[in-house]
Amino acid sequence: MTDLTIDRRALEDLLDGRWAEARREAREHLRDPLYHPRPDLPTEEARARCLQQARALAKTRGPNLGFPKKYGGEGDVGGSVTAFETLAHGDLSLLVKSGVQWGLFGGAILHLGTEKHHEKYLRKMMSLELPGCFAMTETGHGSDVQSLRTTATYDPDSETFTIETPDEDARKDYIGNAARDGRMAVVFAQLITGGASHGVHAFMVPIRDEDGQPLSGIEIEDCGHKAGLNGVDNGRLWFHKVSVPRDALLDKHAQVAPDGTYFSPIENDTRRFFTMVGTLVQGRVSVSGAAVSATKSALAIAVRYAAVRRQFSPPGVSTEIALLDYRQHQRRLMPALAKTYALHFAQEALVVQLHDAFTRDDYPERDRRKLESMAAGIKTASTWHATRTIQMCREACGGAGYLSENRLVQMKADTDVFTTFEGDNTVLLQLVAKGLLTDYRDEFGSLDTLGMMKMAADMVIEQVLERTAGARQMIQSLIDAVPRSESETNLLDRGYHLELLEWRERHVLEGVARRIKKGIDSGREPFDVFNDAQDHVLLASQAHIDRIIFEAFVEAVDRSTHVDTRTLLDTVCDLYALTVIEENGRWFFEHGRMSPGRSKAITAEVNRLCSELRVHAEDLVDAFGIPDDVLGAPIALGAERARQEAKAPDEAETGVAGFAPPPP
Ligand SMILES: Cc1cc2nc3c(=O)[nH]c(=O)nc-3n(C[C@H](O)[C@H](O)[C@H](O)COP(=O)(O)OP(=O)(O)OC[C@H]3O[C@@H](n4cnc5c(N)ncnc54)[C@H](O)[C@@H]3O)c2cc1C
Repeated sequence: MTDLTIDRRALEDLLDGRWAEARREAREHLRDPLYHPRPDLPTEEARARCLQQARALAKTRGPNLGFPKKYGGEGDVGGSVTAFETLAHGDLSLLVKSGVQWGLFGGAILHLGTEKHHEKYLRKMMSLELPGCFAMTETGHGSDVQSLRTTATYDPDSETFTIETPDEDARKDYIGNAARDGRMAVVFAQLITGGASHGVHAFMVPIRDEDGQPLSGIEIEDCGHKAGLNGVDNGRLWFHKVSVPRDALLDKHAQVAPDGTYFSPIENDTRRFFTMVGTLVQGRVSVSGAAVSATKSALAIAVRYAAVRRQFSPPGVSTEIALLDYRQHQRRLMPALAKTYALHFAQEALVVQLHDAFTRDDYPERDRRKLESMAAGIKTASTWHATRTIQMCREACGGAGYLSENRLVQMKADTDVFTTFEGDNTVLLQLVAKGLLTDYRDEFGSLDTLGMMKMAADMVIEQVLERTAGARQMIQSLIDAVPRSESETNLLDRGYHLELLEWRERHVLEGVARRIKKGIDSGREPFDVFNDAQDHVLLASQAHIDRIIFEAFVEAVDRSTHVDTRTLLDTVCDLYALTVIEENGRWFFEHGRMSPGRSKAITAEVNRLCSELRVHAEDLVDAFGIPDDVLGAPIALGAERARQEAKAPDEAETGVAGFAPPPP
């Protein structure tokens, strides 16, 4: 490993991937000091600065890339998600504010509205002349959006809808852009016409006038200071008999005629609702990508610092040891780095799917639901990984990690909520399992239509797992070549890793399917059966997500053409695979798939891989391509190196890799 010649540029190019241009352009913009985070600002100043940043961003290509050419965009969905996720290397308040404006507000107009809405609003939304909100969540209902209680009641005489907040539970809550800047909101409400309710629909509702004052019937309250993201003005909204014209209904999936007749090509309310929210999947994909970017920034800071920060010296030696030469420090940073690589490639595969789904007319409906499931799954993995890794990086940098100038504390606070918004992770994991159990049927997304699992569970038991990665044949042939007995299998055999993760997924999923079928067959309520098996259900999703992330990594290694870079990535991929297997060692052991000897051998191999990769740790984080002035943290930019050099120039010149690590 030490004699590899790593072409950092080639590795960076591989990571930059298909939308490299959008990524590079976004990085260049972030170098402008206007975009550099200022965690010291009081809330109101932070909000004003965030709006100023968003206005500057509106003049760049990035936020508008995904919108139709007709309105000044480029129809490049993958490019727009890539540009967005790159923003997460900078000020995360700006990231979230622009996510609300172009992703949620703009995305709802584009995907739920029709041409009249596009013509009227898209250009103004794109230029930020019309700052908007996405008002879905209510105080009483966050995860269960189908049960929202705001109403939109149609009156054929005036041809208007009346938007009403019936009680305190139904007030809109946490809504980005609502407390200060939003002029209009896409409001999700129960549509009522002719006395009948047709479920949740979206409406364009003006909330402030040109001077920024709330309009008549609109009550607005500030959510106040938050743990992070204080540049974003989250607020609460009440609607008191607010009248909007019939055209305010975003009517791509359902229309109301002037006389109040309701029509939708999708008859079932639940199915219609999940078709509608399914078109908003880009938001979830974007948050996932942003989580990966923030994790990369944190690791770049912690790895660079660990390479130069020295503590303690071996007996009889005057030179202190770099943190990165300690086994435990490697154990903290290297598996997290390997998982970040894995998630990067899984995210890239997800963005390709998203791009295809929204740019190809012939994209199959079932694949659309698989995309939603994949987005939910990868979002949970990347956001949980972000929050854990950023905290670990903060600790790995000691006291320096706690200083605001080194960014980790703010990064942790700002990304924390990624596990909650755009779908709470625990709820999303249940949707992933439900997709697997029901073969992604029409009502994918709903947790309360569990009756259909009865039939579906039978199928799962016989079902062959579907591969999401492109290199299906390559992966299958690696699995087929694995020897049957554990003792004959090399720990670094890629087929062994693939087979083990696939076996776990199948075993857990079949177990859940049998359990649900048995419960339903015995006459119990499907909801109770599902609830009793909830931990098992979540494990099935986790096992599925682990496999698809790993396969995306294997496929990316296979794509790499530069020999040494490929060898390096292969080793990172080994470390990722063995870390996942080690973390689930108890499960494999309990299910007879791992002997105690093998379990110990895996731990020893993870240790060995961590030290083997140590020498390339800086190459691996440099390849993320984050410019120094965007990364910002002095400890990652040579401040510690300069201090060490001033202290003992001779020692510093000997190079960090020259020290033997202490015995394990
Ligand atoms: C900073 C911020 C910005 C936001 N911006 C917006 C915005 O712009 N627009 C908007 O509409 N919303 C926004 N939200 C709201 C966000 O989407 C919701 O907070 C989120 O959907 C979760 O809903 P909740 O807070 O009601 O939590 P709940 O749904 O009450 O969940 C609370 C806990 O219960 C658990 N739980 C819930 N259901 C189940 C179940 N079936 N099984 C097991 N466990 C369960 C969850 O895992 C979670 O841990 C924002 C929130 C925040 C904090």
